[in-house]
Amino acid sequence: MKTITPFILLFFWFSPCEVWSQNIDYQILTEDIQYLSSDALEGRAALSEGNVKAGKFIADRFETLSLSSQFPGYMQKFSLEGAGSDKAQGSNIIAFIPGTSSSEILLIMAHYDHLGKKGDVIYNGADDNASGAAALLSIAAHFAENPPRHSVMFVATDAEEKGLLGAKALVRDFPFPLEQIRVVINMDMISRSDDNTLYAVGTRFYPQFRNFLLKAAGNSPIRLVMGNDGASGEKDWSRASDHGPFHERQVPFIYFGVDDHRDYHQPTDTFENIQPDFYRHASELILDTIIGIDQSIP
Ligand SMILES: [Zn+2]
Repeated sequence: MKTITPFILLFFWFSPCEVWSQNIDYQILTEDIQYLSSDALEGRAALSEGNVKAGKFIADRFETLSLSSQFPGYMQKFSLEGAGSDKAQGSNIIAFIPGTSSSEILLIMAHYDHLGKKGDVIYNGADDNASGAAALLSIAAHFAENPPRHSVMFVATDAEEKGLLGAKALVRDFPFPLEQIRVVINMDMISRSDDNTLYAVGTRFYPQFRNFLLKAAGNSPIRLVMGNDGASGEKDWSRASDHGPFHERQVPFIYFGVDDHRDYHQPTDTFENIQPDFYRHASELILDTIIGIDQSIP
């Protein structure tokens, strides 16, 4: 028996469990989306108590990961015009990792707010957009461990559901010249698809990212479709979420999201209705794209 053991060990050592890469801790990813979409946060509507709890959870994670920020307590406050009193303020939650060889910025974004409650009914917003916010935290954890060549800024935006207000405030008060942003990666609804399809929007305007997307998709079991950016007869999502205000200023972007589904903006957009396998593969695909861009562009 002793003579066979090394061969058995070798066999297991070389047998690949899964062909796609694994840079994301799935357990943490799943726990984070579950917490962010839980009833305890009451749908995370801007200005609500649940929204403040969600923002604090994200800021605490950035602190645990020892990330820096241009903003005290990781919070960029901005006024929510027309959403209550003049003093009503939303908070983008922002962390930063300086690049090891470039000061150009990869800006990774996902909104953490959602619709809140209507009467006693909670709109949990698991896919929209606890999914993007939890992926943002997992991607931040990866780069905290593996320092990127380019600077990376992580932004959980607030008040997207009220008209992209957090993203507009970020463009207005960006702590660096906007020209320093190499790409905006926005994630909004990435955790479920009945036809196993994730869309990457923006390559019609910014074709320089096509190869990175193709390469990441080649290692993924999910189907990546580039489009929905307004070519003739197509849907146009080029201003549909927080990347919009950046696109208007000619800042390159890639927006990742799924098609609208039966639970979109319904109280049934819950953790139980996400598709965990699709979600983790989508998160990996997005991180792979970012890693490819970081390692390959000067
Ligand atoms: Zn959304």
